[in-house]
Amino acid sequence: MEIIYKHTSQEEADFTLNSILDISSDGFWDWDAITGYVARSHGWFRMLGYDVDIFKNDVFTWEDIIHVDDYDRVMQHFESYINAEISKYQIEYRCKKFDDSYLWIEDSGKIVRKSDDGKVLRMIGVHKNIDEIKKTKDMLLQQNKLLSTDKATLENLVKERTEELNQINKKLYEQIKKAEHTASHDSLTGLYNRRMFESLLEREMHRAKRYTYPLSIIFFDIDDFKKINDVHGHKVGDEVLIDIAVLVQNCIRNSDIIARWGGEEFILILPETNLQDAKDKAETIRETIANEIFPNSIHLTCSFGASLLLKTDTIDTLFKRCDDLLYKAKELGKNNVQEG
Ligand code: GH3
Ligand code: MG
Ligand code: MG
Repeated sequence: MEIIYKHTSQEEADFTLNSILDISSDGFWDWDAITGYVARSHGWFRMLGYDVDIFKNDVFTWEDIIHVDDYDRVMQHFESYINAEISKYQIEYRCKKFDDSYLWIEDSGKIVRKSDDGKVLRMIGVHKNIDEIKKTKDMLLQQNKLLSTDKATLENLVKERTEELNQINKKLYEQIKKAEHTASHDSLTGLYNRRMFESLLEREMHRAKRYTYPLSIIFFDIDDFKKINDVHGHKVGDEVLIDIAVLVQNCIRNSDIIARWGGEEFILILPETNLQDAKDKAETIRETIANEIFPNSIHLTCSFGASLLLKTDTIDTLFKRCDDLLYKAKELGKNNVQEG
């Protein structure tokens, strides 16, 4: 079977093409550079909301609807293309619609005819509506920017809060340490208080029993301290108590423990110390105090009890024995050491 090809005439082809262009939603333009005439498709008018063919068919119609902020950029691009400085004409900008709002379009054009000396004779192009895409893209960029700002703000906030929490933790730790110190120390002399002494004595008694080493304690009381207060005042009495604490600390080993039992009474734990050594230590302390000149040229003495921990001892029996010895020392005229 013979196939017969029917060729469309040029006129028919032009008609078909024009019809297609007119029903397209994009706007087509055709610029005759010699006459200045610009043909625009119906779609071009529809896209911008204008009645078809209400404008003059010249380039100024186009220039007049370009957004003022985009104008220079568009003209520069157009001229660069016309002058063959760039090979492609394609640019996005805003065009004024019938209601004075603006529509983002993408304008793409192509020179289709030039003179022999390179002058542009005809250029055609298309205005494509990219308003939705452009606005969505801008919105996404904006949101992205906000998100990254928020992230940075959030990170900063977390950093600040962490720093604050660290400071609070540090303060709390310091307060706990302070509270612990207050609970276990005497506020005047800085020595351990009775409460702490008792728990330390219990620990040392267990150790002594576990490792079967001797453990002794010394209990001493300032002689006639009431008189010192009465004569020199309570404040001087306080200074004396502080000085005695320092003096005694200088007489003992690091492993020895000293505490203020209360008032003008002090107590010591001497680990790995037999009764003789405890008695000698008490004598040293007694002499040191007796030889010291305290504020207001005060001279004073102390009475001592020194006891060795026995296998059968509890804290109470050990302490009672030592307290009795101290009482005995007082009875024997004060300023002496009684051991047992
Ligand atoms: P003794 O030789 O029998 O121990 O006589 P003393 O005067 O030392 O004993 P007494 O128990 O009669 O008096 C103890 C005094 O210690 C009375 C009290 O005011 C004083 N004292 C107790 N604690 C403190 C203190 O923290 N500071 C001062 N300045 N004096 C205190
Ligand atoms: Mg006393
Ligand atoms: Mg006393």
